Amino acid sequence: MASSPTALVLGAGIMGLSAAWGLARRGFSVRVVEQDEVPNPRGASVDHHRLIRHAYGAQAGYMRMVDPAYAAWDLVWRDLGEVLHVPTGVLAVSGGTAGWLGESRTALAAGGHAFTDLTVAEVAARFPMLTEAGIGAAFHMAPGGVLLAGRIVEGLAKRLARQGVAIERGRAVAVDPARAALRLADGGERSADLLVVAAGPWAPRLLPAVIAPRVVASRQILVLLEPTPRHREGWANGPMLLDLAEEGGFYAVPPVAGTPLKIGDHRFSRTGDAEADPREASAAEAEEILALARPRLRDAADYRVLGARACYYDVEAGERFVVEPLSPRCLVMSGFSGHGFKFGPLLGLAIAAAVSDPALMPALPGWAAGEAPPAAGLLAALEGVPA
Ligand SMILES: Cc1cc2nc3c(=O)[nH]c(=O)nc-3n(C[C@H](O)[C@H](O)[C@H](O)COP(=O)(O)OP(=O)(O)OC[C@H]3O[C@@H](n4cnc5c(N)ncnc54)[C@H](O)[C@@H]3O)c2cc1C
Repeated sequence: MASSPTALVLGAGIMGLSAAWGLARRGFSVRVVEQDEVPNPRGASVDHHRLIRHAYGAQAGYMRMVDPAYAAWDLVWRDLGEVLHVPTGVLAVSGGTAGWLGESRTALAAGGHAFTDLTVAEVAARFPMLTEAGIGAAFHMAPGGVLLAGRIVEGLAKRLARQGVAIERGRAVAVDPARAALRLADGGERSADLLVVAAGPWAPRLLPAVIAPRVVASRQILVLLEPTPRHREGWANGPMLLDLAEEGGFYAVPPVAGTPLKIGDHRFSRTGDAEADPREASAAEAEEILALARPRLRDAADYRVLGARACYYDVEAGERFVVEPLSPRCLVMSGFSGHGFKFGPLLGLAIAAAVSDPALMPALPGWAAGEAPPAAGLLAALEGVPA
């Protein structure tokens, strides 16, 4: 009897675990090597939440991937036995319809996604916890919500372990794509038929020749808040907020399922080292984010700051994902540029489909990079994923 093919996955963030999940569904015997505990508090895939939404500016390829991503999450919920997504809807506000908000409207309309334009008065009436300062255009969209990131990573790791995926603590110091092998810091070596490298913001360090020229680690700051009691209910039922003010916008994640209200911004610092730097944020770093949010939060002075921390993006210049073969036996997952979490399980299924049918592999990098048109063959293969 033929034995099952083997896969080795470096990294137990959402990408590595999703690849392991997709490959295990296709009958691979999988081992994951992770340098830290799982979930890794230093990794890009945790804290409380990550957002999933269709509004994607001019990046229509990623907008088109959101419905398939939701379908992939549904498979994850089925495997986990619980739904770790909280629908909130999306509120986007901006100074006008130029730029990201206008580009999103155009792409959403072309893609047949319903959204509602709001006047400034309607924003004020529906969302009393927000000020109208500087709003020239706004829309609301019902689909979209919060993925409970830390709980998802923890649940997925436990589920994989239960079904026989080995999750081993070890630090890789060298990658050999041709042999699908990793050299570990303790001198050991692991190899398999297939290697997937999903090292998050550590990837430029680990793959200096192929990834460092294209992807940089980027220190990003998050601030956790407790809304003033006057606005607690507004936020508890509130949408995710994408504030695209020209002078430095920010995003807010509502306090769902017992989590705090979180604010951050999407400007890339493009500085920092995921391995060496502390995750605590300085007072000055936190203040930079708070200064962006204060003009939008009504009664901002009465909010309580619960804490601030740093998280690292792996930024590709055009915010395009790098999901590519490094050899016939090795794939890399990188360049997620602060928007990869929502697509983790979908990419895991896509990798597994392309590995199982090499005719699909040429379509994978362009599709994952958000380039139009979507690869029909690959999507058809995803729909045919065995349950
Ligand atoms: C603040 C913040 C907000 C974000 N918001 C959103 C959002 O709203 N929506 C969205 O879709 N995405 C969002 N993202 C992006 C998303 O979270 C990331 O794209 C995604 O989590 C990346 O997952 P990963 O598995 O590639 O990286 P990671 O989670 O960092 O996993 C990589 C793992 O590899 C391990 N590793 C690295 N090197 C080695 C080695 N040499 N040996 C062994 N193990 C190693 C690491 O320890 C780590 O655990 C956000 C990211 C951040 C930081």
